[in-house]
Amino acid sequence: MIEAMTAQAPGVPGSPADSASPAAAFSRRVVRVVESMEMVEGGGFTVHRPFPTTGLDHFDPFLLLDEMGPAEHAPGEAKGAPEHPHRGFETVTYLLSGEMQHQDSAGHAGVLGPGDVQWMTAGAGVIHSEMPTPAFQQNGGRMHGFQLWVNLPSRDKLMAPRYQDVPSEAIPTVTSPDGLVSVKVIAGESMGARAVIDTRTPICYLHFTIQPGGAVTQPIPEAWHAFVYVVSGEPAVGADARVLTRGTLGILDTAEAAVRIGVPAGASGPAQLLLIGGEPLSEPIARYGPFVMNTRAEIIEAVEDYRAGRFGKLPTNS
Ligand code: MN
Repeated sequence: MIEAMTAQAPGVPGSPADSASPAAAFSRRVVRVVESMEMVEGGGFTVHRPFPTTGLDHFDPFLLLDEMGPAEHAPGEAKGAPEHPHRGFETVTYLLSGEMQHQDSAGHAGVLGPGDVQWMTAGAGVIHSEMPTPAFQQNGGRMHGFQLWVNLPSRDKLMAPRYQDVPSEAIPTVTSPDGLVSVKVIAGESMGARAVIDTRTPICYLHFTIQPGGAVTQPIPEAWHAFVYVVSGEPAVGADARVLTRGTLGILDTAEAAVRIGVPAGASGPAQLLLIGGEPLSEPIARYGPFVMNTRAEIIEAVEDYRAGRFGKLPTNS
């Protein structure tokens, strides 16, 4: 086994797509499937949320995953998340369609369009709003995207807020030699490309599109937790090719340092999925709404700081 694993070199970042690879035996497996729950967030927009839910509270180092929509908005109907605070973690927004604008108490503002990513490190605290742009609100259209909350280690929870606004064209995208697999590398490394986004702890955030007949073996360091979230289609995930459906999250075991994902040649269409993983922090979590710290005392301090106005305020009421 050890000999074979060495030959497969599953721990080497940047292994190419491998439709014909015999590496399946050395892949992680899906150990649990979590259905996402439909919930209403912010000012009244629908999300599909695999966690936190009654079945899955968090998945160290990740605290939340929301799929925003997909929803078709009539003119005047699109909603967002008006003014609210965060402390102690990061919010990562990745849009597939639609247009959102962001504004916060640290003086940052920006617009996110299809394919763009905002990786916001709230650290010691920000107050921000996340809203559809006025044009999108007025005209309506399709809104679809993701927000991931990444926990910060104790040492970084009170760091100065940091923003990484990355337009779609700056996010590395790689297509396999056989043309059947492509990946957008938002964080970490895949198929020879390295993300431009910097993370506080080791994390991968990969958006794969796999055509029928395509497959990829993605290295994941053995100590990392990792999951797959299906955006569309029906990928076969892991050593036993477990088929997952849209809106489900598959938690992977940690038995191997890679995962194999493919789409059968006879499938009716491609599959899109997020593969998200990271080194667990293994620290206590004290959580109260938009504040995620290590102890209850730190949560009380966060609430007091927020109420006392120490998070600053938005430049205009948005
Ligand atoms: Mn927010």
